[in-house]
Amino acid sequence: MKKFWNEKAETMPEEAIKASQLAKLRETLTWVYERVPFYRARFNEHGVTPEDLKNLEDLARFPFTIKSDLRDNYPFGLFAVPPEQCVRIHASSGTTGKPITGGYAREDMDQWGECMARTFWAAGIRPNDICQNTYTMGLFTGGLGFLLGTETLGATLVPAGAGQTERQIILIQDFKTTVIFGTPSYALTLAEKAAEIGVDLRETFLRIGIFGAEPWSEEMRREIEERMGITAMESYGLTEMGGPGVAFSCAEKRGLHINEDHFIAEIIDPVTEEPLPLGEKGELVLTAIRRRAMPLVRYRVRDLTRLYREPCACGRTLLKMDRVAARSDDMLIVNGVNLYPSQIESILLEIPEVSPQYVIVVSKKGYLDRLAVDVEARREIYDLGEEKLREIEEVIRHRIKGVIGLSAHVRVVPYKVIERSEGKARRVVDNRH
Ligand code: ADP
Ligand code: ZN
Repeated sequence: MKKFWNEKAETMPEEAIKASQLAKLRETLTWVYERVPFYRARFNEHGVTPEDLKNLEDLARFPFTIKSDLRDNYPFGLFAVPPEQCVRIHASSGTTGKPITGGYAREDMDQWGECMARTFWAAGIRPNDICQNTYTMGLFTGGLGFLLGTETLGATLVPAGAGQTERQIILIQDFKTTVIFGTPSYALTLAEKAAEIGVDLRETFLRIGIFGAEPWSEEMRREIEERMGITAMESYGLTEMGGPGVAFSCAEKRGLHINEDHFIAEIIDPVTEEPLPLGEKGELVLTAIRRRAMPLVRYRVRDLTRLYREPCACGRTLLKMDRVAARSDDMLIVNGVNLYPSQIESILLEIPEVSPQYVIVVSKKGYLDRLAVDVEARREIYDLGEEKLREIEEVIRHRIKGVIGLSAHVRVVPYKVIERSEGKARRVVDNRH
């Protein structure tokens, strides 16, 4: 059985990848300059034309595209082909505001399917797998992207969709599902429901999960593997780049490989906007070099990560990025201290008495911010009584203070008090504005 979905593309020497990137990038810059008035005007304002691109470093001379550009040009202003020539139009789930659109030409579907198939193959999925998709198969790119990937690879898809958790568990048993797709937070919801109705997911045929669409910590990954008895793999992407399929994990489970022949990744300092060298942490910037209906140039993703090129034991030469532990939109500033929800998550997952069901509430108290963390006790713990709960709260408070430097009001709440996720979890309530 082959080791890679597309051996040639996934194991190309660095020089060859770069040469093909340059050619595709030049084509894309010309394509948008000629077809998208927004890009023509933007490039002109910056005094650059596609001819100014002589090598890959020249990309840094081109302007960024930002989320508000997509919103300002909603719905079709950034399309490079008329919408009626698209075979598909998606919109983002709108986690951070007004939705944004993405158009797909026929060849965009092919490239998307290819990138997803690479993701699945690297995760160990083969044509005889039965994959249950718990993503919503609608406007949100995740659901139909995973469907397309399964079809491209030739595996079987069970389009279960989001929610109806008990039914999902019945399907897993009856259909002998081997692979599960969804958000990490939904994986927990599923594991918990299974325990509740007395089903041990470790005893089913499930062997692989591919999760994504929201940040999750390494501790959460291990928790999911443990509770479901699977290997938890990952897919990364965003509507603006067509959806999932931008980057994927391999058997090494360290970082994600970027589909570099489709997307050029850069890291910039979010404040100075200057490109940073490989290895440094900053904001991810992506350029789609093979998309046709809506290729974005230097899109500021607002996710924080690090890029590195190192020989990977899996044999792929594709550039790697660290898993995205945080989107910069999620960063909270509490009494002057920067805080990401994933930091709290990592702390909570190290405390065996609580479950990873939590919510962070920030409010104003006079001139100061008040940080509160509500976290659920594991089912059997809550009954141990007040004293035990106060003790656990104290441990968590102490850890948060030590690791993050903030005083938090911690409450251990009963099992099932916190709303369960069916898609992207909402972990932060900011009442300050
Ligand atoms: P929205 O912006 O409404 O959430 P998208 O579905 O396009 O819409 O979400 C893309 C974002 O989801 C990414 O920019 C990133 O913040 C997050 N994301 C997607 N996949 C992952 C992943 N594997 N790990 C962490 N975050 C992810
Ligand atoms: Zn690898």
